[in-house]
Amino acid sequence: MSTATTKDHPHLAADFNRDEPRVNWHDETLWWIRAKRDIAAHKLPEWELLRETASQIKFNVLSNLSSYLEQFEANAIKNGIIVHWAADATEHNQIVHSLLEQKGITKMVKSKSMLTEECHLNEYLKEQGIDVIDSDLGERIVQLANEPPSHIVLPCIHKKKEEIGDIFHEHLGSAKGESDPKILTETARQHLREVFLTRRAALTGVNFAVAETGEFVICTNEGNADMGAHLAEIHIASMGIEKLIPERKHLGVFLRLLTRSATGQPITTYSSHFSKPQDGSEIHIVIVDNGRSIQLGREEFRNSLKCIRCGACMNTCPVYRKSGGHSYHTAVAGPIGSILAPNLDMKKYADLPFASTLCGSCSNVCPVKIDIHDQLYKWRQVIVKEGYSPKAKTMAMKAMALTLASPTLYRMGGKTGRLVFKYAPFAVNNKLNPWYNQREMPKAPDESFGEWYAQRKGAKNS
Ligand code: SF4
Repeated sequence: MSTATTKDHPHLAADFNRDEPRVNWHDETLWWIRAKRDIAAHKLPEWELLRETASQIKFNVLSNLSSYLEQFEANAIKNGIIVHWAADATEHNQIVHSLLEQKGITKMVKSKSMLTEECHLNEYLKEQGIDVIDSDLGERIVQLANEPPSHIVLPCIHKKKEEIGDIFHEHLGSAKGESDPKILTETARQHLREVFLTRRAALTGVNFAVAETGEFVICTNEGNADMGAHLAEIHIASMGIEKLIPERKHLGVFLRLLTRSATGQPITTYSSHFSKPQDGSEIHIVIVDNGRSIQLGREEFRNSLKCIRCGACMNTCPVYRKSGGHSYHTAVAGPIGSILAPNLDMKKYADLPFASTLCGSCSNVCPVKIDIHDQLYKWRQVIVKEGYSPKAKTMAMKAMALTLASPTLYRMGGKTGRLVFKYAPFAVNNKLNPWYNQREMPKAPDESFGEWYAQRKGAKNS
């Protein structure tokens, strides 16, 4: 279930685009969700005020992160929660494993956590002999299909119900050819109920951690985080350092924004608060950095840490909708993933900031007002400056810069181009030219605009 690939975004997007009907319904479904988000947002007259408030609260958190983290830790410990700190993905995975090992636990249930996807926890634990079952329905589907999630809120949005029926038939014993969503959901419910009742450990993510009280909040529509955590003897919560909010009253701002932005619902079905362990059970929270403090230090990209993972920027992005989440080859896909991933590995993810039209729709819908498209543009500059853009592209851009800076070269280039288009079009219209692969090449004009203009100006003056 690794996201490791040698292909970059354009090639993975081309793979996705081979199935045109799939691309069309993927595009239409996500746009439908975006439209639902618009209706939900427009119903709140104070929507823009909420966005601005959320953005300012997160700005405050990021500006005082270390003190809020310490305050959260102290209050969580006071409540009886055991707090662990992980500098990176490896340390996070080792901590989770050691907690399970200490109790002799070899089976765990997990609810949706993009941080554990980022850390490749499932693969790590599998290598250690630990069986992990994802309990979010969409996550369970992609887990059974041996794929990573393609969307942070809708992990199997790229799959048709007939494909899900085949997966359930193979793994969960549903009838062959069954694709009724109600029957498939019931099959998953029966399967997962057994998992919840028998697993001694549950891992969840964290949507919001409240510094003032030491509690944390998990939002789900299926109640699977609650089922797992309440029935297990040990609850491990994995949390990125940026998940903090200062006070409980701030939840009112974020909970109103989160699900309206994600799916157009007024609120998540379950917004569960965890503040202290039940008698006879333990809560552990693993606070993870994994490159976030480096991003915090990059002033131009700091705002990306305000993200509350609603997925709205993906649903609205024309590139995401047409290229599918797997084309981003990183745990968090889409516009925000394309800002976060180069921070983790600039070389590996150098392609992602270019997977955007820079239309700005992502920034328009972002509930915490992250300047997403500006940051994508800034990453492009950093990547080129650091020498991570493809060599051919760098050389082409240099040649273009030289040509555009010299009127003589520009005129010569234009003339040569027109002649090539006219007398040797095969030199341009061939499969080696990626531009031609997806577009109709234009017919070359007989003269340049400059020549055309000079002629008309001359005729007018004579
Ligand atoms: S960047 Fe904004 S729109 Fe995108 S997932 Fe994060 S909060 Fe949502």
